[in-house]
Amino acid sequence: MARLTYRGGSFEAEDGESVLECLERAGCAPPSSCRSGQCQSCLMKATSGSLPPAAQQGLKDAWRAQGLFLACACRPTEDLEVADADGGALEVAATITGREVLSDEVVRIRLATGSPFEYRAGQFVSVIRPSDRLTRPYSLASLPSEPQLELHVRRVPGGRMSAWLCDEAPIGEPVQLRGPAGECFYLAGEEQPLVLAGTSTGLAPLVGIVRDALDRGHRGPIALYHGSVRASGLYLADELDTLATHPNVRVVRSVLEGPTPDGVVQEGLDALVLGSGHDLKAARAWLCGAPELVRLLKKKLFLAGMPLKAIASDPFVVAPAGA
Ligand SMILES: Cc1cc2nc3c(=O)[nH]c(=O)nc-3n(C[C@H](O)[C@H](O)[C@H](O)COP(=O)(O)OP(=O)(O)OC[C@H]3O[C@@H](n4cnc5c(N)ncnc54)[C@H](O)[C@@H]3O)c2cc1C
Repeated sequence: MARLTYRGGSFEAEDGESVLECLERAGCAPPSSCRSGQCQSCLMKATSGSLPPAAQQGLKDAWRAQGLFLACACRPTEDLEVADADGGALEVAATITGREVLSDEVVRIRLATGSPFEYRAGQFVSVIRPSDRLTRPYSLASLPSEPQLELHVRRVPGGRMSAWLCDEAPIGEPVQLRGPAGECFYLAGEEQPLVLAGTSTGLAPLVGIVRDALDRGHRGPIALYHGSVRASGLYLADELDTLATHPNVRVVRSVLEGPTPDGVVQEGLDALVLGSGHDLKAARAWLCGAPELVRLLKKKLFLAGMPLKAIASDPFVVAPAGA
């Protein structure tokens, strides 16, 4: 059994228990969201003791070297002294500068940062609400060369951060940003076929990646798939149509059920992507959005011959009910 020291308190971690679970039991847990090592909302710092490797998976090297780790993924096997991640050094102050309704479900949020914020289009950033440190990850649709950051936020019924960002926070409201993180950004040979597939706001990083690829002179074929259960989950039609005028870009929009607007097909994303004759051994893929679809498609692409290292994905894992 490992002993955790945090904010002057000492807590026994039960066998197999994560730092997050142990501190929650003690009533002093840090903010968290996905609880599956994906979103990096529960970042903490180890000040003494050694961390299991899984606790630092997916973190950038500089953060690992500082002893930063994910509380949800850290199941300590020996005593550990932990502290809150140092907000000042890891975070950038930003302001909400714009809000634009893109559909009944999705709102475009623009943010300006007070100091330079380095990122690649398609990565995600942790948005932190200063009043209560509520933390949620959102993907970046903007390019670093653009003056403001752009997020696409889907309104989740009863969702704390999405409701606040979409409907409540006034323009000019400050937020803190941490990151960027995630493996979804353009990284390919100029001639390589690119396959991008996402559901709902999984489109945000994919649009960023396509625009970045085109900006960098990508010449290979680019196929962008946007899917939703129903047509109400699709958005950004005009911008996708504009992207599709580029000679090597093809955009496919699909729904699973209900009315299908012009230009939209009714078929599962997995069947569309797998049935489109892409050269999967040569291509690179990015998958974002609903975790079930991302995992299914990743598995199917791999089984169809795409090397795992050619597939980048960000499943949008959400906080469990009541967390
Ligand atoms: C790497 C990453 C990138 C992300 N990028 C984006 C993005 O670009 N745009 C975006 O809109 N979201 C994105 N998300 C999801 C986002 O971080 C939040 O989880 C989402 O906005 C809901 O947060 P909330 O605080 O509003 O809801 P919460 O208060 O966390 O949730 C309220 C309730 O709704 C449930 N819930 C939340 N979301 C869903 C859902 N999709 N389906 C069913 N039930 C749900 C929760 O389980 C909970 O019971 C991303 C997630 C990850 C991990």
